[in-house]
Amino acid sequence: MSETKKLQPLQAVKGMNDILPPESARWEWLEAKMRSVLQRYGYQNVRVPIVEPTALFVRGIGEVTDIVEKEMYAFEDRADKHGQAEHLALRPEGTAGVVRAMVEHSYLRDSPRRLYYIGPMFRREKPQKGRYRQFHQMGIEALGFAGPDVDAEVILLARTLWRELGLIEGQDVTLEINCLGQPDERRAHREALISYLEQHQDVLDEEAKRRMYANPLRVLDTKNPAMQAMAEGAPQLLDFLGPESQAHFDGVRALLDSVGLAYRINPRLVRGLDYYNLTVFEWVTDKLGAQGTICAGGRYDGLVEQLGGKPTPAVGFGMGMERLLLLLETLGLQSPTLVPDVYAVVPDPAELLRILPTLEALRAAGVAVQMHAGGGSFTSQFKKADRSGARFVLVFGADELARGEVSVKPLRDGGEQLSRPIADVASWAADLLPA
Ligand code: ATP
Ligand code: MG
Repeated sequence: MSETKKLQPLQAVKGMNDILPPESARWEWLEAKMRSVLQRYGYQNVRVPIVEPTALFVRGIGEVTDIVEKEMYAFEDRADKHGQAEHLALRPEGTAGVVRAMVEHSYLRDSPRRLYYIGPMFRREKPQKGRYRQFHQMGIEALGFAGPDVDAEVILLARTLWRELGLIEGQDVTLEINCLGQPDERRAHREALISYLEQHQDVLDEEAKRRMYANPLRVLDTKNPAMQAMAEGAPQLLDFLGPESQAHFDGVRALLDSVGLAYRINPRLVRGLDYYNLTVFEWVTDKLGAQGTICAGGRYDGLVEQLGGKPTPAVGFGMGMERLLLLLETLGLQSPTLVPDVYAVVPDPAELLRILPTLEALRAAGVAVQMHAGGGSFTSQFKKADRSGARFVLVFGADELARGEVSVKPLRDGGEQLSRPIADVASWAADLLPA
């Protein structure tokens, strides 16, 4: 019997996406915008591993969080020759790894750091629009800064990015902020909240009753209409802030006011990760349904010590790149598509020996040159030139080459066809670049 059975094609893992042209050009465009803004605020790039010891995230993010309890891709590595296997995890977020690296390399000893990363994160969530199992974040971490000044800075860095992308603040994206105070203030509030919930047992649903001691703040996050009035009247963390926390929050607000950034104080904003204190914030949109948080962050003064370093104040955010691109698409804010400046038609492939030096010289001069490869008739090459979106076609025909020239024909906005010397690219390369 012959073995000619066709193999089934394989598919990507559910919730993990391929990013292919032309979509990938939008990613590169977004990343370039991000890097440009980050550089203007003095943030430097860090590249840390995607796989870390599971314990890092358990310790860093918190054991009783959705991320660690339900969403993390954790596995046991192969055993070494002593039969020992490491517990490893795909990073579900970026902060823990960056802090681990800073502590490991004693990078916070001499000076504070402003850092950023761009890369994939992994969470085993139910895939849907704006929620994936492999997704990408741009994140920043400012380590060693205690004041409200840098809280305002990280928020404003995001605002500058929105503006450069064409998003309108207060309309497409809005800022919500809250102050979580310090652990002792949270404890006092927590006790008050639990006794408040105990007094309102009759309106609590089953889930609320289950959570009221483990995570009472989450009870207030309820979508149950029968519990809304109860949630509205609950003691608010903001009323439990001591003078220092209050001053910090007022400081952030004054700085945001000074640059005309409007925000909404959301007393229920608590964030899903355990490590936050004082300022927390989210940039949200109402244009993407349930996946409305584009950028989320806050202060995490306890994390560096929690991960074995010297106590170091810190603040940062994580920005979901898929959601940001979805938002731009929804609003019709498209990135410029990448097209070559010129398409080189090569009627006789044998002539490439004479043509290639000219193409290389054009590329060295900064011109994006798409070279026709694979032969074919003049007409079919010309069609491809047109489809490429190039603004000019270069025709290296036999007549032109005999004169040591190439024809330069504008494809888009009219203009006349010209002849140019192939040996002296410097005199005309600049005419091919976009204005
Ligand atoms: P959500 O409430 O939407 O689950 P989160 O609080 O879990 O978000 P963070 O851990 O703060 O999110 O991550 C920062 C940002 O990363 C989010 O605001 C969002 O833009 C993006 N993000 C988080 N999880 C996903 C995911 N599974 N797919 C795509 N983007 C995500
Ligand atoms: Mg989540």
